[in-house]
Amino acid sequence: MKNSSENFAGVDPVIAKQTIVDFCKKRGALAVGVPDLDTIERIAPPGHRPTDLMPRVKSVISLGVGGQTRGAWQLPAKAMAYSGSTEVRAYSAAYACAFFIEQKFGAPSAYVPPDLDPEGGPRVPLQSLKLHAELAGIGARSFAGDILLHPEFGFMYYASVFTELELPADQPMADNPCPAPSCVSMYRSIGRTPCMKFCPAQCLEGEVDEQGRQKKSRYDMALCAELTQEYETVPKMLAEAVRDEVRSRGAEGLLDPDRKMLWYKVSAGSGAWFAQCFECMRVCPLATQAPQADVISRTEPVRAAAIASQTKKD
Ligand code: SF4
Ligand code: SF4
Repeated sequence: MKNSSENFAGVDPVIAKQTIVDFCKKRGALAVGVPDLDTIERIAPPGHRPTDLMPRVKSVISLGVGGQTRGAWQLPAKAMAYSGSTEVRAYSAAYACAFFIEQKFGAPSAYVPPDLDPEGGPRVPLQSLKLHAELAGIGARSFAGDILLHPEFGFMYYASVFTELELPADQPMADNPCPAPSCVSMYRSIGRTPCMKFCPAQCLEGEVDEQGRQKKSRYDMALCAELTQEYETVPKMLAEAVRDEVRSRGAEGLLDPDRKMLWYKVSAGSGAWFAQCFECMRVCPLATQAPQADVISRTEPVRAAAIASQTKKD
């Protein structure tokens, strides 16, 4: 890495990183980290490396925002696709962060599109935001189809920023919180963890070793996709329109007033473009019961302090 004098005029990388972390946290991020760029470049396949999108990138910033509210976990799968996802909040924070770095440090920066690679088919992203977050140490791969989990915040949504500013890198987590102790107990008793047992598509398999750590993990993405497409409203609608033998009727379907609302939602960045059925996370003790897994647990001390102060006054 360049030393600070070679970085953007007068910018100290350590101070700059802390300033960026503080900014992202003010914007709603619970965790922020900087993955090692060389490691991403080595692991990501050609065409999906940071330098493939932004040739002069020097650092990647990964941030995670909290997942759904505690109440949302009560909703059925068909509603979770709309109410359970907070990724748009992560994307807004990352967008703001890119603007902030340019304004504060004068370093060219870009919000990393979480979108699919138009040349790569329907399930290949331009970049693996998951890889960025994992190497930044703000999430670890779980038995539930590699969904990243955090020991403190449980299930988060992630977003990334590229910048020409050089920032010191973080390390991946030393210990993976998945499987949780109660999952190890279940595995010892029935040979499966809760996510494996309750996945309706039965697309998760894995082995836990003697020390209670992940030994092997297998995720059948096609099975998961087949099941969750049920909740992917827009792709389902397009598939129906394209299959329509009478093309004029297919076009009519796309312009149906009831469906226009979906196009609006897509343009606004929501609307179940992609879904998961959430059952693997609904039964996951980390996703739902990590110490700061939801807003209620994160704000508990504030409410307790308010009650204590009120009691003192009384
Ligand atoms: S999203 Fe649903 S189908 Fe996919 S792995 Fe999780 S529980 Fe299984
Ligand atoms: S339920 Fe959660 S913590 Fe337990 S094994 Fe599955 S993903 Fe890991």
